[in-house]
Amino acid sequence: MTNKYMYFIANWKMFGDLRTLNSLDTVIKFSKNNKNTKFRIIYCPPNTLIRPLSKRFKKTNLEVGAQNCHESENYGAFTGQVNSKMLKNVGAKYVILGHSENRQSGETDKLINLKIKSAIKSKLKIIFCIGETLSEKRKKRTKQVLSKQIQNGLKSVKDTSNIILAYEPVWSIGTGLIPKSNDLLNSVLYIKSKFNKKIPKVLYGGSVNDKNIAQLKDISIIDGFLIGGASQSSKKFIDIIKKTFN
Ligand code: PEP
Repeated sequence: MTNKYMYFIANWKMFGDLRTLNSLDTVIKFSKNNKNTKFRIIYCPPNTLIRPLSKRFKKTNLEVGAQNCHESENYGAFTGQVNSKMLKNVGAKYVILGHSENRQSGETDKLINLKIKSAIKSKLKIIFCIGETLSEKRKKRTKQVLSKQIQNGLKSVKDTSNIILAYEPVWSIGTGLIPKSNDLLNSVLYIKSKFNKKIPKVLYGGSVNDKNIAQLKDISIIDGFLIGGASQSSKKFIDIIKKTFN
């Protein structure tokens, strides 16, 4: 059993409405009943649910995050966009940045770097996603890719104390596939080795579920999990947490 704080971050993607929030009562109860267990639970719902969820989580240990933000700290003519200040204003404490689904629709390292800087200014904590594609993995370029994403994404970011990294191999997201334990260990070790002052928390994300958690939790260098599909079921999400500490 682990003795450090473990993060369990739910990435709901484009899922959920006001009624869905009722299903979180069991997670709230679970968290209250396990106050002595060292976990931090953060839900990142669509923007439409940030405010109601942060109200629901008042007086609990659970926190709310967003899934992305615009890079501008100011209001502007950016139809459909929301910036970090606006997210903070409605109760978000965290924001996921650099998710591969957004990288695939055109987000560059440079843009992610601007978003990270704007989120830091708004005092949001950042869950910074990095990871290689299947073809990069096959070409044995994983370390190179991770190094470039870290270097460019965190360019001129002096204070990384509010940045959590999430290693999410693109080929593992939503596919049911997870890396071999040794490969995962090496990638997380490599990510941590890129920081010489303050070593950040590094989470793993990609098809985490209530079955494969038994294997994943044994990699003790991992500081928690970013969970997509399985986090839509409170039962599965709680089972993942329980099994991590068993
Ligand atoms: C994600 O999208 O961040 C993720 C980890 O998804 P899934 O767990 O569904 O693979």
